[in-house]
Amino acid sequence: MKRVFAPERLDVVAFAAEAASLSADDPVPNYPRLVQELALPTPGAVVHWKAVGEQRTGALGKAEPWMHLVAEATVPLVCQRCLAPVDTLVASDRWFRFVADEATADAQDDESGEDLLVVSRDFDLHALVEDELLMEIPVMPVHEVCPAPLQLSSSDEDFNAAEEAKPNPFAVLGALRSGKPEEGK
Ligand SMILES: [Zn+2]
Repeated sequence: MKRVFAPERLDVVAFAAEAASLSADDPVPNYPRLVQELALPTPGAVVHWKAVGEQRTGALGKAEPWMHLVAEATVPLVCQRCLAPVDTLVASDRWFRFVADEATADAQDDESGEDLLVVSRDFDLHALVEDELLMEIPVMPVHEVCPAPLQLSSSDEDFNAAEEAKPNPFAVLGALRSGKPEEGK
């Protein structure tokens, strides 16, 4: 019988040794740290991911567990030009090699093209999928062409008031970093 692997507590060594694979279409709300980055709640959106294990022989002739992970989701981010939601494809495609411990990972990190993770019998693949997607979120998501304001009758004053009511999150961050409230330029 084929062994069943659980994405929340993955036996990484066995997963690689059996060249097993796992995949799922998870609802975006199952990824709370990703949800925090979104412009809108997205109950219908899905995170599609697939992980494939592979055992390779390392430099010292020892078996090394590897994993290829692809993950993607199309999610509404806040456009940094107009502040309206902009549907954005967030996608990751990466190889990981599992090493014995944190010290080995630190020591080999610079010389490795792949990403290094610490081997585990109950590895949280779900958390890794979320980490990868968070890393791929663009710093400045923008529409290719921003939609025109919906209320065509609204005056420039209304539009400016709306802009001021929704500060750019990066401006807010800058103000926090500098330790003083944002001042009008
Ligand atoms: Zn826009």
